Amino acid sequence: MGSKVAVNSDSKISFTCSQCNHFLKAPVILKGERVNCPECNGTIRIPRKSSVIIERKTKMIRCDYCHFPIKVEVGKHITTCPKCLAKLSVPLQKDEQ
Ligand SMILES: [Zn+2]
Ligand SMILES: [Zn+2]
Repeated sequence: MGSKVAVNSDSKISFTCSQCNHFLKAPVILKGERVNCPECNGTIRIPRKSSVIIERKTKMIRCDYCHFPIKVEVGKHITTCPKCLAKLSVPLQKDEQ
């Protein structure tokens, strides 16, 4: 039982190095894997029960109609302006494909 949380592949988990207690973040897909600590260079296994940080990339666009600034998730192609409710296509940025 329990509610399912949709985990985006961009989500990060936070954990501390067992050797130097350095605070680290890693992509959620690396759960249970071993990584090197950038601080002490020791090998740490990422705990499977790490807390997930929902960290989605967002960007700002402006509504074509009312010029209201809108925050959209990167990768989203269509959004709705919260002000004038127009449907907008999100222009791709250079760093996206
Ligand atoms: Zn460390
Ligand atoms: Zn608008």
